[in-house]
Amino acid sequence: MLREVFGYRSFRGRQADVIEHIIQGGDCLVVMPTGGGKSLCFQIPAIVRRGVGLVVSPLIALMQDQVSALRQLGVRAEFINSTLTLSGIREVESAACRGELDLLYIAPERLMQPRTLELLSRVNLALIAVDEAHCISRWGHDFRPEYLQLGRLGEHFGTVPRLALTATADSTTREDILTRLDLTGAKQFISGFDRPNIHYRVVEKLNPRKQLLDFLKGEHSGDSGIVYCLSRRKVDETAAWLGTQGLSAVPYHAGMDAAARRAHQDRFRQEDSVIVVATIAFGMGIDKPDVRFVAHLDLPRSVEAYYQETGRAGRDGLPANAWMTYGYADAVVHQQFIERSEAPPEQKRIERAKLQAMLTYCESAVCRRKVLLEYFGESHGGRCNGCDTCSSPPERIDGTEMARKALSCIYRTDQTFGAGYLADVLLGVENERILHNRHHLLSTFGIGKDRSRREWIMLLRQLVVSGHLRADPEFGVLKLTAESIPLLRGERRFEMRIAAKPPNRRIAGDRSRHESAEKPPAAIEALQSASQRRLFDRLKEARLKIARAQNVPPYVIFHDRTLAEIVMAQPRSLDELAGIHGVGKQKLKRYGEQVLDVLLDEEP
Ligand code: ADP
Ligand code: ZN
Repeated sequence: MLREVFGYRSFRGRQADVIEHIIQGGDCLVVMPTGGGKSLCFQIPAIVRRGVGLVVSPLIALMQDQVSALRQLGVRAEFINSTLTLSGIREVESAACRGELDLLYIAPERLMQPRTLELLSRVNLALIAVDEAHCISRWGHDFRPEYLQLGRLGEHFGTVPRLALTATADSTTREDILTRLDLTGAKQFISGFDRPNIHYRVVEKLNPRKQLLDFLKGEHSGDSGIVYCLSRRKVDETAAWLGTQGLSAVPYHAGMDAAARRAHQDRFRQEDSVIVVATIAFGMGIDKPDVRFVAHLDLPRSVEAYYQETGRAGRDGLPANAWMTYGYADAVVHQQFIERSEAPPEQKRIERAKLQAMLTYCESAVCRRKVLLEYFGESHGGRCNGCDTCSSPPERIDGTEMARKALSCIYRTDQTFGAGYLADVLLGVENERILHNRHHLLSTFGIGKDRSRREWIMLLRQLVVSGHLRADPEFGVLKLTAESIPLLRGERRFEMRIAAKPPNRRIAGDRSRHESAEKPPAAIEALQSASQRRLFDRLKEARLKIARAQNVPPYVIFHDRTLAEIVMAQPRSLDELAGIHGVGKQKLKRYGEQVLDVLLDEEP
C-alpha cells in the first residue's frame, strides 16, 4: 500500500508499528512532531480495513487538502463540512452508508450531532481517528470546547478502533487526552521530537528589516515561507515593505476580515514563492509541505510557541530554515505584556518562566537543537551541525571585568537608564543627553572604550537573562538585583558569550553556503547545475498547469522533493518513474506521460 498508492519507499519512525496495531483492531495515541507523517497512520489502515475510516479534524482547509491529496492517489475520500451544500452532504452520507468510501473527514461538532451519530450507527466503520487531539485539553495550546464531546465516542462506537493523534510534546496534555477520550488503556506511540531537516539560527537584531531581506534574497529567493511578527501593525507594514522590495508578500492577522484572510491563505497554498507575514493567528491547519523557511522578526513568548511555529517549515523533509532576529527590546516588550495583563499571579509566574526559557535559548552558547529537545524532556548530545552555534560556535570570554564596569555604571547613573544609553556612557560618547545629565563627569564615563557598542549591548542582555540585572518593564530601564552584588564585589565570575559576527551572505545563485557546515541533503545539493535548476523549474511549471486545471494546490500533484528526485534520476520510462518518491500507481497513470515529455524536451 505504501509503495503502490503513496509511492513512498519506506515507513518513517513508528508508522509501521502504529499501522499494524490499528489494523489488528487496537486503540492508540500517536505523538509525532509536525511533519512526522501522522496522516499515513490512519490513512493506510482505513484503506486496508473493511468499512469507512472516520477522521475528526477541526480545520476545514486541512480536510480539503487531505481529501484532494487522497483523491489524487485514487483513494475514495470525502469530507462533510460547512462548505458543502445540503444535497452535497446527503450524497456523501449515502456513499458512506453504501460503503463506497475509504475515508470520511468531519468536524467534531457535526460528528456529535444526534442526526450524524444515528446515521453513522448504520455505517460500517474501519476506524475513528481524532486528529489534533490536544484540542481536547485545556493544558494544550489550542483548547476547543467542541472536542470535549468526543469523550463519548466510545459509548457510541465501542467496537471501532480509535486513535488520537497530536504533535504536542508535554506529558500533562498527553495524559489529559487519554483520560478525556476515554483511551486510558490504549497503547502509546511516542516519537522523538527532533526535526533534523530544520536549521536553527538566531541573529542579533541590528537592522532587522535589512537582515530579513538579506536572508530572504540570499537564501530563499523564490521560496515559500512565513515571517512572524508580534503586532498586527508590524505585520501590515512588513508585508507592504517586502512588496516594495520585489517579493510577493501578503499579511495575515486576526484584525483582517475573513475574506481577505482566506484569500491570502489560498494564495500561499496555491502559488509558489508566496511569503505570508503573520501574527501567531496564522499557521494552524496549514500543512503545506514545502514551506522553506520560518522567520521571526520578534521573539515568541515561549519555547513551545517557537517550536510549533518553526515546525511549520520543511514538512516534506527537505532542508528548511528557522531564522530569528533577537534583540534586547523584545524581552522588555514581553515582560510588559505579562506584567500588565489581568492574569492571576500564578499564571504570570508561569509566563515569566516560559519567557525566561525562551531567552535562555536565544542566549545559548551550546547547540540550539540540544536546548530545544531538552526543554521537551528529550536528551540530545549536541553538535547537531544543523544550527548556528554548531556551525560557528560563539566565543566565550571572561566577562567579569566588563560586567563590573557595566554594573557600576548603572549604579552611578541611578538605575534609571536603558541599555543604549548605558553603552554610550561606557563608550564615552558626548551626546546631548549625556552632557545634559552631566554623566560625562562620572568615573565610569568612557571606561569601556576597549569594547564595541555591540559587545556592551550583548553583555547587558546577558546580564539580564542570567538574573544579574532586571529590566524594568515600564521603560526598559536596567536595575541591579541581589545577584549583582557578588559580581560587583568581585566574588563571582561572569562568562560572556560573543556571538560570531553575522556573515555577509550574498545573493541568490551564490553557492558559498553549500560549502559551509550547513550542507543540505542530496536532493537539493544535486540541483546545483544551471541545467538542473532549469529542468526543475520546467517541471514546476508543468505541475502548476495541472494543479490550476484541477483547482488544487501544486503540492497535491507532486511535492518539490518528487520533482527534485526526477531531475536527478532522469527517468526514461514509466517504469523508471515509478520508483521515484511520491509517484504511486495513480499518479504514474495520470501524469507520467506529461513528466516524461518535459524530460524529453530538455534533451540536448
Ligand atoms: P503530520 O500530520 O505528522 O504533520 P503529515 O502526515 O502531513 O505529517 O506528513 C508530512 C509529510 O511527509 C507529508 O507530505 C507526507 O506525504 C510525507 N510522508 C509521510 N510519511 C512518509 C513516508 N513514509 N515516506 C515519505 N514521505 C512521507
Ligand atoms: Zn546544533
